[in-house]
Amino acid sequence: MARKPQVSGNAINGLGEETFRKPRHVYWATNPADIPHGDMQLWFYQKNDHPDLDKGRIARKSEEAIPLAPLADRPEPGSAADWSTRIKAEARALGADAVGIARVDPDWAFDGHEVPWRYIVVLGIAMDYDIMQHAPQIEAGVHVVNQYTRGMKTSKALAGWLRRLGHDAEPEHGPFAGPMTMIPAALAAGLGELGKHGSIINRELGAMFRLAAVLTDLELVPDHPDDFGADRFCSACRLCETACPPGALSPEKQTVRGVEKWYVDFDRCLPYFNETAGCAICLAVCPFSRPGVGDNLVAKLARRTPR
Ligand code: SF4
Ligand code: SF4
Repeated sequence: MARKPQVSGNAINGLGEETFRKPRHVYWATNPADIPHGDMQLWFYQKNDHPDLDKGRIARKSEEAIPLAPLADRPEPGSAADWSTRIKAEARALGADAVGIARVDPDWAFDGHEVPWRYIVVLGIAMDYDIMQHAPQIEAGVHVVNQYTRGMKTSKALAGWLRRLGHDAEPEHGPFAGPMTMIPAALAAGLGELGKHGSIINRELGAMFRLAAVLTDLELVPDHPDDFGADRFCSACRLCETACPPGALSPEKQTVRGVEKWYVDFDRCLPYFNETAGCAICLAVCPFSRPGVGDNLVAKLARRTPR
């Protein structure tokens, strides 16, 4: 708390602003000195100094250092439909547990950044439900670090595959924020609906996944947003809201940069998140996350949806 900046994370993020503007980095800047919460972000690493976390971070750095495959001179031809099918199959073969395609919207770029690509292939990287039940203990934090590395590895391998076939591509992965927000892209690509906990609920994986992506100019067929009733379910469910120790989740949607949506109060979440290697209680308690239960909920919601 001593490292909390004067400015609220919610103000940076545009809470209560009625008109659209581009998002700004609140956390996970590649260079912490670039953001007001940089000192808090650094504390995350000082506080969560554990041998298993260190091992995971070293593995992530080694993966990050591997160069992308070279871009072949002659692009392999194919229709947008064929490439979309091939990319999705390759993404799953390389380790993605969910995959969808969206046309890039320039509004997804952080303020001061550009995303000079036409399409984004969004990848869902599953987390283990049983391990995540340990949240907010260190085991859950270690698992999250390792799944981010898996996301990095999968997105780099998929971008490399495209480049070897002559189509330029760039991987995007966490935990550090790149040039764009990935959640709007994942929603557009059909990976799920935004939950009250501020993360996406996927119809198969619930909230038990992390995001990675590949950007490309190769012509593809975009997917559609998936509406299976999770948003409506969240209006009546209070599990994450009551389980969140600092009370960062609101019972009502709020307006953020011109859009009404579920919102996480950064100023309440971040200090607890820092003290607990990334918390994630809200993801662990979400009923959609429980294997088997999520599928039944989706089926029930489908039956209730008016035709
Ligand atoms: S990560 Fe933890 S502190 Fe943050 S919103 Fe979820 S439950 Fe609350
Ligand atoms: S725990 Fe309940 S309210 Fe929270 S995101 Fe999951 S379904 Fe929605």
